[in-house]
Amino acid sequence: MATVNMKTQVQKKTRQSLVDSYPIANDDIGWYFRVKEITNGRYCVEGSDAWGRLVSFSGIDPDELLKVAVTAARDLNSRIQRELARRVMHELNCGHSVTTDAFLDSVVRWWSNEGWAQVKCPYCSQLSHAAVVNDRISIGVIDGGPGGVLIAHSVRGVTGLVVYIASIDYDGRRWDFTARG
Ligand SMILES: [Zn+2]
Repeated sequence: MATVNMKTQVQKKTRQSLVDSYPIANDDIGWYFRVKEITNGRYCVEGSDAWGRLVSFSGIDPDELLKVAVTAARDLNSRIQRELARRVMHELNCGHSVTTDAFLDSVVRWWSNEGWAQVKCPYCSQLSHAAVVNDRISIGVIDGGPGGVLIAHSVRGVTGLVVYIASIDYDGRRWDFTARG
């Protein structure tokens, strides 16, 4: 009797199994490549990563094809990074969760010295406080008193978030806070 192995998730491939099929290893970016001559003087370069993503290019100059394939693999990596960053959700004090874009859209006050923001929930209007620094947003309540501290219940890494005195850049957009507090 044959048994059927139902795979519901993509299995991460080991480096060894990748190198067996794609012997040109680029460990810096986690991609592995191979060059095949497909017809006389015509080559195909293929690359794969541990998650089975593929890039493939054909032409006459194998060295040039390999460069193009590495660049494409790099681009794919950074696109995936950005995509993952976009999926980060921030939990506000009311319990509603918002994307980074929605969070930044909802800032009603910005204290540039502390890097603190007051955020109005787009669903229920309840206010939360947040500390916003490069690549990270923490949400919670400010514990009063001189030099108060933010007690955070939600701390999320946000790749590519850049905080300036009166604005924040993220994912190709700029949020300007000069008129907000
Ligand atoms: Zn809410």
